[in-house]
Amino acid sequence: MFRFCIFLFVLVGLISSDPTVSAQPTGLPEAGQPSAPISSSPGQLYEQAKFYFNELQNNSTLARSRENWLKGTRNFRKVYLLTPKSGQAPACLYMLGNMYRSMYERFSLGIDLEESLSYYKDASRLFPEHTLADDALYLEALLYLEFKKDPKNATIALEKIIAQYPQGDFHAKAAEKLKTLSRDYDIPLPRSLVDNSQINQLVTIHPVKFWSSPEYTRIVVMADSPVTYSEIVVKEPQGPPKKLYIDFNNSYIPPDQRRRIAVQQAFLKQMRIDQIRADTVRVFLDVDEIDSYKIFSLPNPFRIIIDVHGARQSAVTAAKKPTVGKPAGSTPASSESPQSELTDIQQQPPAAEGEKQPATAVVVIRQDQKKRLLPPPAMPKEDALPKGQSKLSLAQQLGLGVRKIVLDPGHGGKDPGAIANQMQEKDIVLKIAQILKPKLAKQLNCEVILTRNEDIFLPLEERTAIANTEEADLFISLHLNAHPSQETRGLETYFLNLSTNAEAMRVAAMENATSTHQMSDLEGILSDILKNSKIDESSRLAKYVHKSMLTGLDGKNFGDVKNLGVKQAPFYVLIGAQMPSILLEIAFISNQIDAENLKNQQFVETVTDEIVKGISLYVQTTTASLSASP
Ligand SMILES: [Zn+2]
Repeated sequence: MFRFCIFLFVLVGLISSDPTVSAQPTGLPEAGQPSAPISSSPGQLYEQAKFYFNELQNNSTLARSRENWLKGTRNFRKVYLLTPKSGQAPACLYMLGNMYRSMYERFSLGIDLEESLSYYKDASRLFPEHTLADDALYLEALLYLEFKKDPKNATIALEKIIAQYPQGDFHAKAAEKLKTLSRDYDIPLPRSLVDNSQINQLVTIHPVKFWSSPEYTRIVVMADSPVTYSEIVVKEPQGPPKKLYIDFNNSYIPPDQRRRIAVQQAFLKQMRIDQIRADTVRVFLDVDEIDSYKIFSLPNPFRIIIDVHGARQSAVTAAKKPTVGKPAGSTPASSESPQSELTDIQQQPPAAEGEKQPATAVVVIRQDQKKRLLPPPAMPKEDALPKGQSKLSLAQQLGLGVRKIVLDPGHGGKDPGAIANQMQEKDIVLKIAQILKPKLAKQLNCEVILTRNEDIFLPLEERTAIANTEEADLFISLHLNAHPSQETRGLETYFLNLSTNAEAMRVAAMENATSTHQMSDLEGILSDILKNSKIDESSRLAKYVHKSMLTGLDGKNFGDVKNLGVKQAPFYVLIGAQMPSILLEIAFISNQIDAENLKNQQFVETVTDEIVKGISLYVQTTTASLSASP
């Protein structure tokens, strides 16, 4: 711009000394006037137009009339239309941008601002190679910023200067402006402006993974190393908050992994992850209505888990409770356990062959959204049931109890779990889960879902996310124990809680794939998380299942089954579960007798039968106590 002004000044001097050019605006040719001198070349016309513009800027009498300004714009337009491909064309567009900006400053008409913007845009868009292209972009950015209060569009124009004109005379100015915008408006800097040495000191954040149901969402953010974070709940003028931002300090996310994902028909409406400052990554969450949320981190690998619950949850809970004295409703029982449909949406097209496949965000949405709001099923007449179909349990007749159970065979894929006696924990627990599933479904007449039905790796937080988004009523994680001493054997059953028991902490550390030291870091926030989890119910469920298994296995040629008791410990896989949840350590794979039992089909059948019995007893007593209470 500065360079251009000198050029203009010199030209004005030259033109003024030219006797053929009149200073009178009336003598200037205008677009559409056939009387324009035939001898005037586009170059001459352009200089005349510029001269008149200069007059307008310096002669206050002349400048007072808007009509004179419009005349001035017609001068430039005419030159442009005469030779849209000549050297004058980009300069005409640029000068028109300048003229309309001056007009806007003088007359405050919005239409002039729009004209100015559109001429600057045309100048850079149609003539990107011209020396005025970056000037036009910069002035466009200033218009957005100063007059339209639109830092976003200003940023877009400035980023074009950074990307397309790295050697241009506006690069430094644009960079400076972008840094100011980044600071004042939380706008991410282009990567080229982020100091690389600084990036190396930042923790790299990876794309997020998330799950959502109609009233809940879990988001997992992975990081290269531990990172501190803070959250902002955006208040709404009326009603509950709908936006939650989580800022990760001293962190960086590569531009190709910054993204915005819109989710349809789920509690989570939109998720965005972006670099908002040179050293801050923000996760933006737009949800239906925030009722409560919990954020916690898990180590090895370091990840942050965000659980957000919607305001609709209380309505759902109310719908689940028995309504005494009211008709049970007429919904057919068969509609109560529809096949759950999971939708996996790959947010990016698959990478081309040979191309590195980026980790993608995965959305899992439950489709059967209205199911939980249905009234309790009608009590069917026993003789009306098809042959072989068991009648509804008492709990289901009352519209409470268990409609869906998630079984979680521990470990899988790259994580074999405990290995001993030529067996891997992941294989045995999957087999047990597959045998348990149909038995449970039949006995409790409910839907049973496995977190994994094959030998695949599943992070611990994903297993809970499945149970929560499935809105399961119970969550049972199946494991085998191991001990350095091969003598140790027996059965123990866990539920989530803080623990001071060293042995329980050892088992939890083993299942969490972490150290007991890392787990102690979690204890500070665990007490907060536990407030919302169903500790009492989980403890009761654990006792029923544990007792049933002990009794059932006793005196059946499986050796003396040792009772190691019902215990509590901070198992990651149970954190955030919204339903009664337990973790079974069925036997010690490291013990010879237990290992032989695990290979024995009779043992597996008995164990699964007894788990079903224990769960059934739990459901029955829950129903009894609830229906007895006023
Ligand atoms: Zn395990």
